[in-house]
Amino acid sequence: MNIKIGAKIKELRKRQSITQEQLAGALGLTNQAISRWESESGYPDIEYIIPIANFFKVTANYLLDDGGHANWLKIGMGCDENKGLYCSFCGKDHTQVKKTVVAPNNINICNECVLLCVDTMMSVQ
Ligand SMILES: [Zn+2]
Repeated sequence: MNIKIGAKIKELRKRQSITQEQLAGALGLTNQAISRWESESGYPDIEYIIPIANFFKVTANYLLDDGGHANWLKIGMGCDENKGLYCSFCGKDHTQVKKTVVAPNNINICNECVLLCVDTMMSVQ
């Protein structure tokens, strides 16, 4: 089993501009616990998975899955979280499009670009 939960927590925390202290405080833990997770030298106890998921507004599946496409984060229009999140293809802010799919490594794609991709794929025989 190779769950990169520490990396995901770190990425979510950075995206949402939350400090290790803030996350630790919300979970009733020490900063050291968070920093252990993020450096992959320890995993959160199972009882913290749901509180962590709720805190970041993601599913527990997203935290636990080791990279399945279905668990990429989907962010809808009008969502104030993740400010400064842009589509990697057209550059639109996520509030300017209906939905943005957030994949690892800061690659994001909006619903409009997904349609464009599908169009392009379909036209190639
Ligand atoms: Zn786009």
